Amino acid sequence: MSDIAIHLDAVRQRIAQAAAAASRDPASVKLLAVSKTFPASDVRAAFDAGQRAFGENYVQEAVAKITELGALRGEIEWHFIGPLQSNKTKVVAEHFDWVHSVDRLKIAERLSDQRPEGAAALNVCLQVNVSGEASKSGVEPDEAAVLAHKIAALPSLRLRGLMAIPEPAATQGEQRVPHARLRALLDTLRADGLDLDTLSIGMSADLEAAVLEGATMVRIGTAIFGARDYSK
Ligand SMILES: *Cc1c(COP(=O)(O)O)cnc(C)c1O
Repeated sequence: MSDIAIHLDAVRQRIAQAAAAASRDPASVKLLAVSKTFPASDVRAAFDAGQRAFGENYVQEAVAKITELGALRGEIEWHFIGPLQSNKTKVVAEHFDWVHSVDRLKIAERLSDQRPEGAAALNVCLQVNVSGEASKSGVEPDEAAVLAHKIAALPSLRLRGLMAIPEPAATQGEQRVPHARLRALLDTLRADGLDLDTLSIGMSADLEAAVLEGATMVRIGTAIFGARDYSK
């Protein structure tokens, strides 16, 4: 068994245990393997261990990997989770199945306009700044509803839910606070008529807190692929 296969098993067990603690079906939590900075061969090793959904942050790096793994394109679901500039929306609209990091109408409109004809609608999440820190990404919670309704109306997108990257916190209790805030916002939007099924929260350090607060998709990098080396 490869190291990646062993790590994947451990992460699946963490999800199962957290789901059990929350009285949730573990199958209601989807695992997104965040492969940024790691080579296509590592994605392949995770694929061979049964993983099918992968998250990437950097457009050029991601497209190189998607191309290299072209033979698996029909079986892998690619998720863009990084900051997205408007000059990169076309490439993202052409290559990805999901975008988690939409936080402006202009970006959403471009993704919708640039989604290739005949392709399925691009699944998107609205990124929300739930930590209230000086974070540069994410719409403010009190502006989320107006933006969500506008995005939901775009023809080539399917708004699936909300995503957040909270500030790191040391204890599970503290980790749960922003997650709970995002979940409450999702509930509000659903009560308001939006058909949303995705709460994208939880990384290697706060997976359990996220599952306890209702995460339907956890984005795990380090715990699967190891520490990232940004010097390369
Ligand atoms: C890198 C990244 C992750 C994975 O983080 P780990 O702590 O390595 O699990 C998840 N979500 C986003 C948006 C990321 O950029």
